Amino acid sequence: QAKGAGRDTLRFYDPRMQAAVSARAAMELDMRVGLAQGQFELYYQPQIEHGRITGAEALLRWRHPQQGFISPAQFIPMAEESGLILPLGEWVLQAACRRLAQWSQQPGLAELDLAVNVSPRQFHQGGFVPQVLAALAGSGADGHRLKLELTEGLLLEDVEDTIEKMGQLRGYGVGFSLDDFGTGYSSLAYLKRLPLDQLKIDQSFVRDVLTDPNDAAIARTVVALATSLGLRVIAEGVETEAQREFLARSHCHAWQGFLLSPPLAVAEFEALVRRINAAGRPQA
Ligand code: C2E
Ligand code: MG
Ligand code: MG
Ligand code: MG
Repeated sequence: QAKGAGRDTLRFYDPRMQAAVSARAAMELDMRVGLAQGQFELYYQPQIEHGRITGAEALLRWRHPQQGFISPAQFIPMAEESGLILPLGEWVLQAACRRLAQWSQQPGLAELDLAVNVSPRQFHQGGFVPQVLAALAGSGADGHRLKLELTEGLLLEDVEDTIEKMGQLRGYGVGFSLDDFGTGYSSLAYLKRLPLDQLKIDQSFVRDVLTDPNDAAIARTVVALATSLGLRVIAEGVETEAQREFLARSHCHAWQGFLLSPPLAVAEFEALVRRINAAGRPQA
């Protein structure tokens, strides 16, 4: 910035930066339009316990009319920054609760839990608790079937606010998982205070669990930590039978991953649940 130019005349002169800024503005506008036009959809990745599908994680998908499928890894951070995560996150909660209410009427699907990812800005907004309660009441879904996945960063942002909100929602049966556990900065002191139900072992530890002794030690330690705190533990990103076996031997309660299935559109997910759960109890 040229000396003396003053705050009001600050400009971006770098053409690449200017292009990035306008691409971002275009994406934000596209997201607003996409939300209004129904371009967002929930996919469902099965979560498995003792060989049965006991629930799913809802993962957001965006079908952009020109650019095709855009990954949440790309648009969620942008939605966080722009504030669009507020209407988008509310839509996700409502769609997830409607799905739970539909499942509750269907034999073979009525026992499924559904996990919803919640981003920090969404959680810490003033109206988050009423928003969840409205999604439950509006759909008729049972709060005991809803799990919210929080990240370590979110928990640390405002610990008192977090504990307060978790406590209120727990009163309606809502459960809480700590996502991507081990990749953030949460201290054990906080972990002890938070009313969590479950830790999720991050896929970065699962990936090399058979070849990297450090990852194996971390996975076992997370299970031991969770168990001694009275929490359940689920592994994400399980891609091979050998990884699944290692985790089962380490007493990990549940898992999800491409080994059984990627996230699926709802009809495919429901068909998979019926097929797998009808088959009895194949293996841990
Ligand atoms: P996450 O919550 O940690 O979700 C797990 C990610 O791992 C998903 O990516 C899933 O498709 C992928 N995955 C599942 N199994 C495997 C596997 O076996 N191997 C590998 N390599 N990957 C696997 P996805 O769907 O692209 O979502 C990425 C992230 O975007 C999520 O990470 C979550 O943080 C965020 N996200 C997705 N949907 C939502 C949403 O509705 N709201 C918010 N706030 N964030 C969301
Ligand atoms: Mg998640
Ligand atoms: Mg995760
Ligand atoms: Mg992850």
